[in-house]
Amino acid sequence: MASEKQKLKVLITVKTYPIPSKKYDELVCTAGVTESGDFVRLYPINFRDLPFTQQYKKYQWIEVNAVKHEGRDVRKESFRPFCDTLKLIGEPIPSNPGNWSERAKYAIAKKARSMEDLSDQQRADRTSLGIFRPKKIHDLVISADDPEWPPKFLQALQQQRLFERRQKTLVPPRKVPFKFHYCFECDDPRCKANHRMMIEDWEVGALFWRMVDKGASHKEASEEVREKFLNELCGSDRDTHFYAGTILAHPTSWVVIGVFWPKVQVQKTEPPTLFN
Ligand SMILES: [Zn+2]
Repeated sequence: MASEKQKLKVLITVKTYPIPSKKYDELVCTAGVTESGDFVRLYPINFRDLPFTQQYKKYQWIEVNAVKHEGRDVRKESFRPFCDTLKLIGEPIPSNPGNWSERAKYAIAKKARSMEDLSDQQRADRTSLGIFRPKKIHDLVISADDPEWPPKFLQALQQQRLFERRQKTLVPPRKVPFKFHYCFECDDPRCKANHRMMIEDWEVGALFWRMVDKGASHKEASEEVREKFLNELCGSDRDTHFYAGTILAHPTSWVVIGVFWPKVQVQKTEPPTLFN
């Protein structure tokens, strides 16, 4: 039975770096939360092909008609959007004041305790998206990766785009020649404190290429990514949470698809009295 078309209202919280894909052209994972804090994944969306009036930003509400995915993608939150129905609603929610309170209302409304809990949910009901607060972030590890996309992906992509005469996106997304992993532990007695999860946030690739375009070497640009994603986003003044998602081909493998990093709330304490 075909699934029914629904109108979704989604606060976009995650965009991953584009990957050329044979089946879906350019695969970007766009995810967000509904007004009740439930996670939704929208794909395929060829983000770079969207007209400017539909190019959503992070923490912007959108409305779109969509159907549940069927067949290969059985992940709980996956929807196929009808991109011509996509509408932006207002401006993105600002991060100010520093505690991101308006964003937090939705983004962490249904947060998980740990990766252990998310893995349990994945087994129970095919949960494939979530957010949690790591107890301690140990490191951000940089390692070398292929400098090019696999040739067969690129050929398929080029042929399809030439056929569709899509001038705007004939050039494939640039391949980042590094992988970045967060090493962390969760706030859960079951945690073995040895998580190592790849970071697929769009901003990783975007920052890397911004630095290279300004004249940095690849190595310098990768160090800049580490500086930003470890020392700034996970600094001691930040209440850092990770958005996590599973990979379609490996439903039990999780990656970090975004970071939620409001300022730590300073607790107001009563001034000490003279008599204690
Ligand atoms: Zn853990």
